[in-house]
Amino acid sequence: MLVVMQQGATEEQIQHVIDRLVDLDFDVHRSTGVIHTVLGGVGGKHDFDLAVFEVMAGVKEAHRIVSPYKLASRSFRPEGTIVRVGGVAIGGDRIVVMAGPCSVESPDQIEQSAEIVARSGAKVIRGGAFKPRTSPYAFQGTGEEGLKLLRAAADRHGLLVISEVMDQTQIPLVAAYADILQVGARNMQNFTLLRELGRQPKPVLLKRGIAATIEELLLSAEYILTGGNYNVILCERGIRTFETYTRNTMDISAIPVVKTLSHLPIIGDPSHGTGRRDKVAPMARAVVAAGGDGLLLEVHPDPERALSDGAQSLFPEQFDELMGQMRLLAPAVGRTL
Ligand code: PEP
Ligand code: MN
Repeated sequence: MLVVMQQGATEEQIQHVIDRLVDLDFDVHRSTGVIHTVLGGVGGKHDFDLAVFEVMAGVKEAHRIVSPYKLASRSFRPEGTIVRVGGVAIGGDRIVVMAGPCSVESPDQIEQSAEIVARSGAKVIRGGAFKPRTSPYAFQGTGEEGLKLLRAAADRHGLLVISEVMDQTQIPLVAAYADILQVGARNMQNFTLLRELGRQPKPVLLKRGIAATIEELLLSAEYILTGGNYNVILCERGIRTFETYTRNTMDISAIPVVKTLSHLPIIGDPSHGTGRRDKVAPMARAVVAAGGDGLLLEVHPDPERALSDGAQSLFPEQFDELMGQMRLLAPAVGRTL
């Protein structure tokens, strides 16, 4: 259920609609746009007359939403969402680049990474301290020690931090060090984790699951939004198909599709999307050309010795070159870097 208020509707009129929605057992989510206030009602009774709302003072239009997700749908916030964190805006005019190694490995590695990221003009450093590895015998991450190193290196270079949280028990710890909490592809449908992330204030980067449809991705985002945390950034990171040449198939078309269906910002991760460093730059350019709001990129000071995802990690020079290309490409699609 969506009620769009008229331009200039009074606070009293808005409150009156909210009260009626609450009477009908709706859980009300309010979006105060520049022009219109939109009230989203989730749950609630089904057998009510839409016209009751349509004729209320200050109401422009009322709709029964048939889409399975409501708060994530574009109609809830037609103007789009900008996620703001520490002076960085994701979903605005600027393309936001989050870059760094797959995993935090050592003080030296993360310090060099932060330097590479900062000098290129990127604003956010990435690095996993808790790693979801396919094999239990593979390197599992450095845990809190890694988070400390990441935070300290980011602070030295004026960067924000994004890092993965693998289950709900890790939220307080990761949130103590990171500015953005990443939900990995394997956890896109960890609903307990998503619900908990909805109850805390830090922005969440939600990666598309390996075999998830776009609708499933948006329904997962809905779990976070229903908790009251609207600071959700989506991420296309490739899906599994019959193609084996690349690690995953980077679904660039998901970007314009999500832009139509949802108000949430979406970025692309061509590192996991392709699994090969020689294919990262072309796919990164495609993400921006397709309307993506940013990029998540793996770059490592010494990729050949990386403890995880070395083959898809860019060499520092490749990353610098790509950032230079982004500076030229972004204006062609009405953006800046
Ligand atoms: C990562 O970003 O390093 C990662 C593990 O990504 P994904 O969850 O997309 O595999
Ligand atoms: Mn990785």
